[in-house]
Amino acid sequence: MKPGYYGNWGGAFVPEILHETFRQLNAFFTEAQADPAFWRQYVDLMGSYSCRPTPLTLAENLTRRFGGASIYIKREDLNHTGAHKANNVMGQGLLVQRMGKRRVIAETGAGQHGVATATMAAKFGFECTIYMGEEDVQRQRPNVFWMEKLGATVVPVTSGSRTLKDAINEAFRDWVANMDSTHYVMGTVCGPHPFPAMVAWFQKIIGEEAKEQILAAHGRLPARVYACVGGGSNAMGIFQGFLADEEVELVGVEAGGEGLTSGRHASRLAAIPTTADTDGIPDATPGVAQGYKTMFLQDDDGQMKDTHSVAAGLDYIGVSPMLADLWERGRVRMTAATDTEVMEALQLAMASEGIIPALESAHAFVQAFKEAGELSPESAIIINQSGRGDKDIFTIAHAFKDPSWREFIRAKGEEYGKEPVS
Ligand SMILES: *Cc1c(COP(=O)(O)O)cnc(C)c1O
Repeated sequence: MKPGYYGNWGGAFVPEILHETFRQLNAFFTEAQADPAFWRQYVDLMGSYSCRPTPLTLAENLTRRFGGASIYIKREDLNHTGAHKANNVMGQGLLVQRMGKRRVIAETGAGQHGVATATMAAKFGFECTIYMGEEDVQRQRPNVFWMEKLGATVVPVTSGSRTLKDAINEAFRDWVANMDSTHYVMGTVCGPHPFPAMVAWFQKIIGEEAKEQILAAHGRLPARVYACVGGGSNAMGIFQGFLADEEVELVGVEAGGEGLTSGRHASRLAAIPTTADTDGIPDATPGVAQGYKTMFLQDDDGQMKDTHSVAAGLDYIGVSPMLADLWERGRVRMTAATDTEVMEALQLAMASEGIIPALESAHAFVQAFKEAGELSPESAIIINQSGRGDKDIFTIAHAFKDPSWREFIRAKGEEYGKEPVS
């Protein structure tokens, strides 16, 4: 198989001017992978800066409620900055240090990857520029605020639809102009090779820990592992711990938005009919964009569609080439959860276990809740809680239509919207 390909998917479709930068990146990455001291340095850093290893929590109340498999939750929400994204950005930070570069750039949609990258840059003392569509800058003000306070320059992108895909183009333009000094921090297991391989390598720490933890707690492998899928990095992270164990079923959960037949969702693989009895709604198709080949939500002319999800982190047109391959080979089952189901699962997780999953992570909870009762009480399942939901308070409170929250927002708007009197 060609390097950087996963079955039919992946590759590295980059402008010629970046070929040397990619050659160098591949060389440093390969060398770091072969150096056990590098991985030790990474594990030490994640231990002292990001609370690793994260716990595996037995959800006793939920287990009792569904009456089937023991439900375990892998707590990526306890990472510094509140999500599994820390695993990737801190790893790439160490690699940037090894390459002797001094500046990092990234694109961000919802702003979570931007905040994680700005945090990493502050810790390592790198210069940092984050590209963000102007629309997103306005929608995600709190994250923009934190990025700037962490020392990053946030550049609002005004071209095209002024969202994530335009930010990606702008970031690539910067990289071409500054490749000697600058590293592009990819946020998920997508993009041109070696990024999917690199991000997956750092994220595999989730699955390695989870496997050891479930064997210690439960005495055997889990029947199923559930993870939400945006680009696919938290899913690939935990799945890698169990890929070789054929008896463990791996379940990805995409953003079903307002339903797979509504035209308002961000489901690439789950929406594809794999058997004759599905509805055959046309959705994602194979394509090459943003430097790699995968299944994209695009129209017949290759124009990217508008996607929708209540969870900003799952609202993406492409999907990891690694997951496209595992799905095509039947190793990963892809499903989708709707916005409504997500709010219900979130409510249940909060009230039963005292944990607040991120809206993204709550997608994985939906599917696990649907299936836990079918499994025998001797079995176990793991839900990857990719992040914490505190960041989502505006969206969650709005979706619950809480009248006192609305009044609170109105009053705060009046109070903070005024010019401060000194
Ligand atoms: C960004 C994000 C995701 C989606 O990204 P993946 O690469 O699919 O993991 C999921 N959960 C949380 C909490 C996120 O911040």
